[in-house]
Amino acid sequence: MTPVNAYAAQSAATPLAPFNFERRDVGVNDVQIEILYCGVCHSDIHQARNEWGGSIFPMVPGHEIVGRITQIGNDVKNFTVGELAGVGCFVDSCRVCPSCLANQEQYCDTGMIATYNGRDKEGNPTYGGYSTQIVVDEKYTLHIAESLPIEGVAPLLCAGITTYSPLRYWNIGKKHKVAIVGLGGLGHMGVKFAASFGADVTVLSTSKSKEQDALNLGAHRFAVTTNPETMKSLQGKFDFILNTVSAPHEYNDYLNLLALNGTMVVVGVPSQTSVAGAFNLISKRRSLAGSLIGGIKETQEMLDYCAEHNIVSDVEVIKASEINEAYERMLKADVRYRFVIDIDSLK
Ligand SMILES: [Zn+2]
Ligand SMILES: [Zn+2]
Repeated sequence: MTPVNAYAAQSAATPLAPFNFERRDVGVNDVQIEILYCGVCHSDIHQARNEWGGSIFPMVPGHEIVGRITQIGNDVKNFTVGELAGVGCFVDSCRVCPSCLANQEQYCDTGMIATYNGRDKEGNPTYGGYSTQIVVDEKYTLHIAESLPIEGVAPLLCAGITTYSPLRYWNIGKKHKVAIVGLGGLGHMGVKFAASFGADVTVLSTSKSKEQDALNLGAHRFAVTTNPETMKSLQGKFDFILNTVSAPHEYNDYLNLLALNGTMVVVGVPSQTSVAGAFNLISKRRSLAGSLIGGIKETQEMLDYCAEHNIVSDVEVIKASEINEAYERMLKADVRYRFVIDIDSLK
């Protein structure tokens, strides 16, 4: 076992604070990663505050992990010591169900083993990337290119794949008019990918102040959703809507913006359920769908695509001690566009 410095929530009601625990020894198929940067995902807040229920405390959040390999097990084939590596939202799965066999481990029949706030196969709680080191089976480890700024790569492990996967699954490209709802950690990656794939991209946001950023990120248009006239003028205009909002909101307001056969994919997880009116769906044969991160194979494909096309997340690097303040700013949508913890600040 190796002692590790971390930041943890001791309960749903307490702020995160320094915490020490031990990582397992490196098994034959494991890689040990010295963590360099860890992104701060909105779901970290939901889980640290037990807003989805079932949280395990103490909790060390963090599932946007980039670091350097310091040790490998005897049977590791695809990684070497000294190489950059990444870990995303899960660190294991059953490996034998149809989803796992189809490289869609995130939809594992028995549930993927989450990088934090989960339990490993021995029943021990998993601890995430707000920590100095992690040990992961190589099968659930990603290769990271040396060519990109790695603090901007970290958020690709969750925010990146969460938006890349649905855009790929629905084959979004040159012919499509796409709306990205919400310009936060997820939304800003959605804009970059959709624009990179050749789509005509509109950002829909409650905040007029984000217009210039949206255009700089690659959007072609911007609209403020709080203006009823604007929303009316956009009815039936989009082939595809990527809804990244994690605050409570009405799906129907956005379903009405879909054209014939259009699809809205939900990737944000509000803590309150929204309803979808049947009439809003049937009148233009619209679809409402959801998508959850991506499998290891597709996550690697996404990382390789980003390296090739020079795509990273726009980040604000913080110290671990600034995490509680960062959470408060995220709740006010005051981050452009992802906080990333410099894990040097934990050493
Ligand atoms: Zn996440
Ligand atoms: Zn499985």
